[in-house]
Amino acid sequence: MSDRPQPQPGILEIAAYVPGRSTAGPGVKVTKLSSNESPLGASPKAIAAAEAAIAGGLEIYPEGSSRLLREALGEVHGLDPARIVCGNGSDDILHLLAQAYLGEGDEAVMSQFGFSVYPIVTRAAGAQIVMAPEADYTADVDAILAAVTERTQMVFLANPNNPTGTYISEAELDRLHAGLREDILLVVDSAYAEYVTAADYAVGAALVERAKNVVMVRTFSKMGLAALRIGWMYGPPEIVDALNRIRGPFNVNLPAQLAGAAAARDTEFTEALRLHNARWRDWLTAALSSNALRVVQSQANFVMVLFPDEEGRRARDAFAALLDQGLVVREIGVYGIGNGLRISIGSEAAMRAVVDVLKGFGAPGERP
Ligand SMILES: *Cc1c(COP(=O)(O)O)cnc(C)c1O
Repeated sequence: MSDRPQPQPGILEIAAYVPGRSTAGPGVKVTKLSSNESPLGASPKAIAAAEAAIAGGLEIYPEGSSRLLREALGEVHGLDPARIVCGNGSDDILHLLAQAYLGEGDEAVMSQFGFSVYPIVTRAAGAQIVMAPEADYTADVDAILAAVTERTQMVFLANPNNPTGTYISEAELDRLHAGLREDILLVVDSAYAEYVTAADYAVGAALVERAKNVVMVRTFSKMGLAALRIGWMYGPPEIVDALNRIRGPFNVNLPAQLAGAAAARDTEFTEALRLHNARWRDWLTAALSSNALRVVQSQANFVMVLFPDEEGRRARDAFAALLDQGLVVREIGVYGIGNGLRISIGSEAAMRAVVDVLKGFGAPGERP
């Protein structure tokens, strides 16, 4: 017997999630480019809705199923609101999925550089994570399918992926699904869907409609509402039912529900974000790419920059040089990419400032 309470097996083997840094040196004005947040703020309509919700009083529990938010999402995305579950961020949804569908002895497959929350939720549920190697920083469908064993119960795919920014096409997603047993749950995390410009991309909703073992997970965090914590899932009725049984009964607060509904309907704002992002993602990619720096083609609201030395010394030096100027980007050594940095797409001024610093590391700078 232990002399104190002990967590479940595996919990203490979990490395806690490392959030993007938000500080620089004393007196240095910080430009945060480390968590893929919106450089244009949020939809003014969403802010107004949150303010109105607070002004209306906070003493009453919110409607527990986030009905108004689900209806707005259904309307905007052409989905059945009854098949949507909302969460306190999509992290909440990912935890619920793992809790409901994974247990001791089970395995969850994810790709090598996949989002770092998947191992956390998997181990928290008592299951094991199995990593499938990637092909040039891109999820490899054949490798994922080859990693499946009889113990596999879940496959996580962030599409596009964080921290690499790469994606797989609709045809590849369909091929992945077609290669999985029917009892394996495929979790398609489309956190960056709003930023994708590739014509052969699919968010995953059509696959959810065709299949019994696929869910699509989405978030408002990358669209200006990270502080409110709003995520959602679209899935088969049976999976929706399972999650509704175990989720917190009031897991999305009232200001978040109403702001989320307003943000979903403000498609003009979403489009403005997409356009800003596509423009500066292209610009930054061109201004950094050279023999000395590789920018991996991104479909998200960040780029991953790779420095030539595998030991990561130049990446660390670049991180420090950026930090000196208050430009806080993300080190991705925890993903096993010690020679890379992840840089969120920010304002024009921020992007120009990043390029100015990285000229010292071989970036060519703006091209005519
Ligand atoms: C940012 C991100 C999320 C969003 O998490 P929230 O809890 O909704 O803020 C989910 N998946 C991926 C791959 C992400 O990068």
